[in-house]
Amino acid sequence: MPDIIQLLPDNIANQIAAGEVIQRPASAVKELLENAVDAGATEIRLIVQDAGKALIQVTDNGKGMSETDARMAFERHATSKISNIDDLFRIRTMGFRGEALASIAAVAQVTVKTRRAEDEVGTYIEIDNSVVRKQEPVAMTIGTNVAMKNVFFNVPARRNFLKSNASEMKHIVDEFIRVAMAFPQVFFSLTGNNNQEVFHLERGTLKQRIVQVLGSQYNARLVTVQEQTDYLNIYGFVGKPETAKKTRGDQYFFVNNRFIRSAYLNHAVMSAYQDIIATDSFPAYVLFIDLDPSQIDINVHPTKQEIKFEDEKIVYAFAQAAVKHALAQFSVTPTLEFDLDPDIQQLDALNKPFTEDKQAAASSSELFRNFTQKNQAHFIQPTNKSELKNWKDFYDPAAQQSESPGAPRFESLLDKIKSVDPGDGAMGQRASAIGQPLTWIPEAPLTQLHATYIIASTNRGFILVHQQLAHERVLYDRFNEALKGKAMATQRSLFPATLQLATQDAVLLADLLADLHLLGYEVEPFGKDSFVIQGTPADLPPGNEKLAIESLLEQFKHFSSDPRFSKREKMLRAMAYQRSVKPGRPLSKEEMHDMLSDLFNSPQPNTTANGNPTYIEFKWEYLNNLFNR
Ligand code: ADP
Ligand code: MG
Repeated sequence: MPDIIQLLPDNIANQIAAGEVIQRPASAVKELLENAVDAGATEIRLIVQDAGKALIQVTDNGKGMSETDARMAFERHATSKISNIDDLFRIRTMGFRGEALASIAAVAQVTVKTRRAEDEVGTYIEIDNSVVRKQEPVAMTIGTNVAMKNVFFNVPARRNFLKSNASEMKHIVDEFIRVAMAFPQVFFSLTGNNNQEVFHLERGTLKQRIVQVLGSQYNARLVTVQEQTDYLNIYGFVGKPETAKKTRGDQYFFVNNRFIRSAYLNHAVMSAYQDIIATDSFPAYVLFIDLDPSQIDINVHPTKQEIKFEDEKIVYAFAQAAVKHALAQFSVTPTLEFDLDPDIQQLDALNKPFTEDKQAAASSSELFRNFTQKNQAHFIQPTNKSELKNWKDFYDPAAQQSESPGAPRFESLLDKIKSVDPGDGAMGQRASAIGQPLTWIPEAPLTQLHATYIIASTNRGFILVHQQLAHERVLYDRFNEALKGKAMATQRSLFPATLQLATQDAVLLADLLADLHLLGYEVEPFGKDSFVIQGTPADLPPGNEKLAIESLLEQFKHFSSDPRFSKREKMLRAMAYQRSVKPGRPLSKEEMHDMLSDLFNSPQPNTTANGNPTYIEFKWEYLNNLFNR
């Protein structure tokens, strides 16, 4: 038998490695923007064509590269940013793994032009599939220009996996915003197809940058967070309670200027808002934590969005305290007290941190003293696992049970009934397997209770129907049919309304137009970030088309990070929820009748798409039992 193991050729090895770093055009955008920032640029321009599939080009006025470095930069593990393992714990730059350019060159056709201040001319290099095709001098201004064309041209499997342009563009905009937000002292622009400038962000303060990016609705609605300790600094802005939205859209955490996702830190901020905003709403925040790089490990994942803190609890405590302090100082919450929970004082983080002097420094800080003056507890720490889990779920949809957004929670009622249920199971879902199937008796009268529940007679007793959840099921089925091709009727508007959206939302809506059309909405793009609403579903009362679309988008975003659902599924659920009759709405006899007959025509009448019960069944045996009959 011949030997069978062989080394992979470089370009194949690079292509495989590239998979981790460059998953989609947006990953290349992130890497190239970060390289420009690391090069000290003050002006960074991004041009994308065909949502990055055809071209991603970043031009900066940073320090440039020498002729040799320009070529070296494309080797795997080539970096100017660290040279030994200790440097890894002193990282102040965005990059350090030396993988980005090598990965980009492995999966695309790349050209680079670069020139340093001390050089007369610059260098031009052309590489594709990891092979240098051309290198020659070029006349140019100081800085670097990297263009990446036809991403994945040589990896068709990956190219085929790319999503629609609208959806890839949304990822690009997200990455662009994360970098632009962290560096307000740098000018950024983003130009899309047909030379359309999507973002033009002048240099300015952090606050100006936030308002430029997230929208002027935040003007005068941001509270400054600013705390300095020897261990870490926290600064940035949090939204006043009235800016809290039903979706987690505008929440950004940066650690040493790097955008990160952290359910744990998110929980710290959310708990500072406890009692001042509704439990199912989300405040905006843009917070920066700066701390000694040796206290964090950003090497956890190639895209560096996850980091580990040496001491998570102390970061949590300070983040929460800083936000509480800010909210209180600006009299947003005049009654807040500044007390550090005695439990927290017992934490290892505060008692035996990193070094003795660091601990001394941390606990003598202004902030810490403020929070330890009194001894009562107002400081919530997620020691309670289940509480933390809820926050984690937003990030870890796999752990998330399906639930209907915003719908009243049913569990408590369900649990009560379970606990009094003498055993045979009063609930339709459990009981329907036994005996005859449940049928609704359409001739019997219907009663609405508290404008929320409907009582309906069945062959085995009665059911208590939750009007909103039942309606969600009915609408979900109806819209599902529509998306399969039975388009819904549209009512053309006499006075088409125009809709002006934030750029992120506009990108999202653009992606939904085709499906919206099937559902009876005729919405057309109308210049930058604007749309005209030409028509709405015929069964929708006219008058608040704009509001309907806006709240649909909000609702859609609820699901938008959930990888379990396709775009259509998210849209279906969002639309069913949004159009459903909410508790508190009185229903006529006909409306109730129609709803129930639609419900019992559904292939799955007893739950919503999200898995909530639409009704609860009370069987004769059970009722009789309660009365000792
Ligand atoms: P990393 O950023 O992790 O070092 P990259 O592959 O992104 O790795 O870049 C490799 C090297 O190329 C960088 O360390 C830097 O020296 C150089 N480089 C990349 N982009 C630029 C740029 N826009 N301006 C100047 N130098 C750059
Ligand atoms: Mg880099």
